[in-house]
Amino acid sequence: MLVSAKEMLEKARAGHYAVGQFNINNLEWTKAILLAAQENNSPVILGVSEGAGKYMTGYKTVVGMVNGMLEELNITVPVALHLDHGGYEGCMKCIEAGFSSIMYDGSHSPIEENVANTKELVKICAEKGMSLEAEVGSIGGEEDGVVGMGECADPQECKRIADLGVTMLAAGIGNIHGKYPANWKGLSFETLEAIKSLTGDMPLVLHGGTGIPEDMIKKAIDLGVAKINVNTECQLSFAAATREYIEAGKDQQGKGYDPRKLLAPGTEAIKATVVEKMELFGSINKA
Ligand SMILES: [Zn+2]
Repeated sequence: MLVSAKEMLEKARAGHYAVGQFNINNLEWTKAILLAAQENNSPVILGVSEGAGKYMTGYKTVVGMVNGMLEELNITVPVALHLDHGGYEGCMKCIEAGFSSIMYDGSHSPIEENVANTKELVKICAEKGMSLEAEVGSIGGEEDGVVGMGECADPQECKRIADLGVTMLAAGIGNIHGKYPANWKGLSFETLEAIKSLTGDMPLVLHGGTGIPEDMIKKAIDLGVAKINVNTECQLSFAAATREYIEAGKDQQGKGYDPRKLLAPGTEAIKATVVEKMELFGSINKA
């Protein structure tokens, strides 16, 4: 059964580790991430962007697939199904479809509108036992076509949104989505510390987990980050393994064109990446 991310993140915050959010795109992605979590006794958050939701034909399909897998694969570790960077309407659709967690990304709206929408969603999520992530300060890189600059959130605005009763808070601290450029300045721990001192025990969320150096990840966890989003890294490892299979001509040998064979190395590669991240974040055996 899907669970809210609240309890797993509170435990992570108190235990000084982080739970990974791994974004899904299809059946192979979902299966790889769920098996990695189960085999390593780790809690896990499945992230679905609005674009990926559309790609999978809609949120109801996603909920059906994930719930089916939890049962058929005997998944017993805590699993949250979470909308990643949702608009207000996307959030309402996921609540209706049976997600257990949502992120409302009001970071592109004026703060007053972000506050009003967040308030409304706090109320609905509390009624439904769902967790809610809010975002302050746009996170750099590309988010479903919207390109941000990697700015730092205003700690006072973070406090204002945190006080509305959200479960977890994403704040820009110089992090960006996708691959980091060579001239990236690194995370702003000064901003993170300021946010932490104003928001207390609120679990903080680090987006754009792909390519942040390991020592920075560990320091961020020490400073209150309890959820780290990973997306691009799974895509890169899937693509590399699939490329290797095809370049070796394996799709042309025997029944190597069978999608169950063709997609197997990529699926295993996603699993390996997920396990590597769970080790780094410290969530193994924390289910
Ligand atoms: Zn993000």
